[in-house]
Amino acid sequence: MRKHSWLVPTLALLAALVLAAAGLCLIQVCSIARQPLTILMYHHIVPDGTQLNAMTVTAQQFAGDMRWLKEAGYTTVLPRELAAGDPLPEKAVLVTFDDGYASNYQYAFPVLQQLEMKAAIAVVGRCVEESDGSFYLTWDMCREMSLSGLVEIGAHSYDLHNLDQRHGLFVPEGPNGIQRLEGETEADCLRRVSEDLERNVRDIEAAVGAPVCYLAYPFGVTEPWAESYIRDRFSLTVTTREGRCDPAEGLYQLPRLGVTAQRTAQDCFSLKSNISLFIKEFSS
Ligand SMILES: [Zn+2]
Repeated sequence: MRKHSWLVPTLALLAALVLAAAGLCLIQVCSIARQPLTILMYHHIVPDGTQLNAMTVTAQQFAGDMRWLKEAGYTTVLPRELAAGDPLPEKAVLVTFDDGYASNYQYAFPVLQQLEMKAAIAVVGRCVEESDGSFYLTWDMCREMSLSGLVEIGAHSYDLHNLDQRHGLFVPEGPNGIQRLEGETEADCLRRVSEDLERNVRDIEAAVGAPVCYLAYPFGVTEPWAESYIRDRFSLTVTTREGRCDPAEGLYQLPRLGVTAQRTAQDCFSLKSNISLFIKEFSS
């Protein structure tokens, strides 16, 4: 026995260290859960029974997500309300849609009307301009939703969403969205990005008759050379980085939680989700 006399204090010390680390992790997980604003990110909504991908949820799921939020006591807020400094409801959620699909009008808008919930839709100007309403929103659809007071139309660029041979998709080798082009000077980059976003904003404001204060970065990609202009031009911006946020700490480059078939709105508020956010934050 005597020759193992070191064993007990060593094990006790190890146990104490493990417990302390677990306690710190728990505090961190709880602090993530306490962050006052969750921004949910949707893209396209498809009819029930359609094969799904990371950018789609079914109409049935979306309706179920909104019903769950309502029943769980969450209040939807809009970017313009946050930008105006309106007091945040106790359980606040910002529902966002990127790209401006006609399915947002066809499937999401009736649910929002029925439940009196709000959402922000960031549209790609060129897609709306060229739309016949079968795949992307039209300006008439945008106007009707905006006039309801339930939907805020935001910017997602006029033509910086890889709408060329890249077919609107993210390309890992880049550049994507507003990112600087190879060999581009800072002045040229700023001119290109600002002219595009000014057109996007101008078109939306002319069509819906409401000011634009919200930008969803195409593909969630930011560009340091354009950031100062963007902060002057918009009051609230969102990326695709995963996380919750506190509007009191700023309204730029806010993180979101993407909703998919594998992660419903309810899942976004679960303990599992908080642990996964903690691990992502810890490992980044
Ligand atoms: Zn997009």
